[in-house]
Amino acid sequence: MQAFIGLGSNLDNPAQRLISALAALQRLPGGRLLHHSRLFSSAPIGPQDQPDYVNAVAALAWDSTPHALLLTLQALELAAGRQRLRHWGERTLDLDILLIDQQRIDTPDLQVPHPQMIHRAFVLQPLMDIAPAAHLPDGTALSSFLEQVKDQQLSPLEELDCDALIE
Ligand code: ADP
Ligand code: MG
Repeated sequence: MQAFIGLGSNLDNPAQRLISALAALQRLPGGRLLHHSRLFSSAPIGPQDQPDYVNAVAALAWDSTPHALLLTLQALELAAGRQRLRHWGERTLDLDILLIDQQRIDTPDLQVPHPQMIHRAFVLQPLMDIAPAAHLPDGTALSSFLEQVKDQQLSPLEELDCDALIE
């Protein structure tokens, strides 16, 4: 199956964290990193007294089940020293499953497509970098939600050549 993963960080050198996370995705047993977006920086949603975020989206080929992918991503979050301090608050690494093929999953610990993705410029904009034709299982183009999030400021970190940095 193919999954899109949303990556985010706003603590302890977030850009470097994301590059390390992309490198970790590239090395995953049972997974293969297919594409990744540029890194983007954005102002926080939720509490405003926290640093800006850096976000990206990656496409991953995955050999096992969706729940196994969730557990694998949670292990990577933990390895990055993830602490959940407050709702929508700062985090060293957040890895969300956005889409898995055309699947719909609605279980207590995993919802796919990610319910918030259509409201977040920091997901939609990087997704357009690597999959401009991506759509929801019902066929709705994800590009059609961009208009509603255009007030959320997002800027690419042009100075970073992350392909050169991912080992
Ligand atoms: P958020 O990403 O919304 O800021 P967290 O990363 O703390 O919040 O995630 C909270 C819970 O969300 C996790 O325990 C996980 O079980 C659940 N979850 C539900 N759907 C997904 C998904 N598509 N991707 C990642 N986590 C998910
Ligand atoms: Mg998350």
